[in-house]
Amino acid sequence: MKHLDDLSQLSAATAAWRAAGLHVGFVPTMGALHAGHLSLVGAARAACDRVVVSVFLNPTQFGPNEDLDAYPSDLARDRALLEEAGVDALFTTSPSAMYPDGFATWVEVEGLTDRLCGASREGHFRGVTTVVTKLLNLVGPCRAFFGEKDRQQLVVLQRMVADLNLPVEAVGCPIVREPDGLALSSRNAYLDPAERTRALALSQGLRDAQQAFAGGETSGPALEAAVRARLEAAAAELDYVELVDPGNLARLAVAVPGAVLAVAAKVGSTRLIDNHALGQPWR
Ligand code: AMP
Repeated sequence: MKHLDDLSQLSAATAAWRAAGLHVGFVPTMGALHAGHLSLVGAARAACDRVVVSVFLNPTQFGPNEDLDAYPSDLARDRALLEEAGVDALFTTSPSAMYPDGFATWVEVEGLTDRLCGASREGHFRGVTTVVTKLLNLVGPCRAFFGEKDRQQLVVLQRMVADLNLPVEAVGCPIVREPDGLALSSRNAYLDPAERTRALALSQGLRDAQQAFAGGETSGPALEAAVRARLEAAAAELDYVELVDPGNLARLAVAVPGAVLAVAAKVGSTRLIDNHALGQPWR
C-alpha cells in the first residue's frame, strides 16, 4: 500500500491508474477505523481496480463546541487495517494543506442540509460537502463509497454529485452494527460501560418501530413514538426522531416500505445517530 501525504502525489498516482484504464474507487474517512469503514473498503475492492482511502479529520465539519479535539485517532492502527484490507493507497494530509491561507471557496447544498443533523450542527454539511468535493477532485474516482449510517450525509452528497455533474457515482453501503445492534461509530469509543448499554436505545427503538411496521403500523407519529419511548427509558437526550423520505428527507406522516426512520440523541455527552429503512432486513 502506498502512503501518500502530498496532494500532488495523490493526484499523480491516481492519474496514472486512470491512464492505464483502471477504475479507481475512493473511501473518505476521518480515521479511528472500524468494521463499518472496512465494509466500504470491501465494496470498493469488489467494484474497482484500485482503492484509495483518505484519513483526514476535517476541521471544517466540526462546530466550535464539538469534539474535534477529542476525536479518537490511531493512524498506525488504521494503516495496518487498510493494508490488510488490500487498499492500494492511503492518503493523509493536514488542515493547512487542505485549507491554506486565503482559502475562500465553499460548496453548499441547500435545503437538505437545514433539517435533521443540519438543524443542530450549523455549518457541518458545508464542511462535509466542501472537503468531499476537494477529495473527489484530488482522487478522480469513478465511484466513491459512503455509509448509510450517515444517511443524511449520503443523500446530501448524492444531491451534490448530481447538481454539480461530478463525474463520480456516490454509492451507499449498509450500516454495520455490533452483534447487539449498536451501529458502529468512531464516537462509540467515548461511551463508558453504562453509557454503552444505554446507547442501545437507538437501535432498539428502531427495531421496535421496524417490528411495529411489519405488524401493520404505518403512522409516522406512532413509529417515531416507539423510538422515543426507548430513548426516554434509557435517559438519552433526544435531538430528533423523524420518519423521512429516503430521496429528499422530507418528513412522512405515513410509512411506506423504504421510508427511513432517523434518530439522533445524546447519551451522556456523546451524540449518536442511527437510522433504518423500514421493511429492509435488519443487519
Ligand atoms: P467517518 O470516518 O465517521 O467520517 O465515516 C467515514 C465513512 O464511513 C462514512 O461514509 C460513514 O457513513 C461510514 N460509516 C461510519 N460508520 C459506519 C457503519 N457503522 N456502517 C457503515 N458505514 C459506516
